[in-house]
Amino acid sequence: MRVPLPRLLRLPWTAVLTAFVLLASGFTAMSASGAESGCRVDYTVNKWTGGYTAQIKVTNLGPALDGWRLTWTYTGDQQVTSAWNAAVTQTGRSVVAAHTDWNGALATGGSADFGLQGTWRSADPAPGDFALNGTPCGGDGTPPPTTPPTTPPPTTPPTGADCGGAVICSDFEDQTGPAPSGAWQFTAPDCQGTGTAAVDTAVAHSGSRSLRVDGRAGYCNHAFVASTADLSSVGPVMYVRMWVRHTTALPSAHVTFVSLPDSSQGGRSLRVGGQNGALQWNRETDDATLPAQSPAGVALSRPLPTGSWQCLRFAIDTTAPGLDTWLGDEQIPGLHADGVPTQDIDQQWLVRTAPPRPTALRLGWESYGTGDDTLWFDDVSVGSAPLGC
Ligand code: CA
Repeated sequence: MRVPLPRLLRLPWTAVLTAFVLLASGFTAMSASGAESGCRVDYTVNKWTGGYTAQIKVTNLGPALDGWRLTWTYTGDQQVTSAWNAAVTQTGRSVVAAHTDWNGALATGGSADFGLQGTWRSADPAPGDFALNGTPCGGDGTPPPTTPPTTPPPTTPPTGADCGGAVICSDFEDQTGPAPSGAWQFTAPDCQGTGTAAVDTAVAHSGSRSLRVDGRAGYCNHAFVASTADLSSVGPVMYVRMWVRHTTALPSAHVTFVSLPDSSQGGRSLRVGGQNGALQWNRETDDATLPAQSPAGVALSRPLPTGSWQCLRFAIDTTAPGLDTWLGDEQIPGLHADGVPTQDIDQQWLVRTAPPRPTALRLGWESYGTGDDTLWFDDVSVGSAPLGC
């Protein structure tokens, strides 16, 4: 995929938006409804191959509001990655935008402006089912309710029942024994030392269970739990979402906590972990890293926070050079590969041109030198459609 986010992140938004207006390609504006209803939404989108920004103006045509919440449903495969002047969350195709501290009051006839950026692949039609505080815009003219919406917007991730058809969709609540079983199997593919994995009933992101890994330093102390799901046909873009909770900061030495056996590497793994204290991708066959481990490259990645649950998401293109990574709502610029080599980021990564073809998922811990950690995984999904946190 060719989402030009790293370059965009280095520019002020005004410059980016001006550039898009000047390019004027794909520039469209639409109004979601007429003036006869309780609200009106002007949704103006600037799009390019694989990405878009949308400027959204919501006008309250009903009684004054002391807080607002605008919802809509995407009919394409858009995925919101960031937003400004509203708290925007996406679950499946459903999007919720909630007011911020400074724009919650909406007088009759008043409006609020906010914007967002996202990605899309095959289709990105503008949404048409906007609703303000639950009342459809362009509906029957019923004014929106005057009671404030319930904020903040929901942050509970999809659980077992609603991963939208994902091939892996696990909240580990079905793991009733102390050891991983059924769809999750302990594995130590090379050699086994003192690393362990267990179902934990004391720490969980959802429900009352998660997967706990006690990983130890040294190559043979690695411990992984492998999903039994065959991921060979997930794609063309494989979307991975997990919640992970670490105890110890990522060390200077190389470690891995997600391992994806990759048929394009003869079964060796595409790996997610850390080095130099920051998140990184690593390819087992040639030890290439993303970003490059130069100081400038490492600075474009992020540490993995400890002591709290973190939502980590990947989009892995299996047909073209393309890899994206999100920590929470942030797309990490140093963990982005596209078809254009960028020094300190993906110049080294793109030396190997065959795109990855992950076939399986392993969660755990592997340390090639120093570095041990206790970490937990929960609400893990892998599918062919984008996944929200
Ligand atoms: Ca759980």
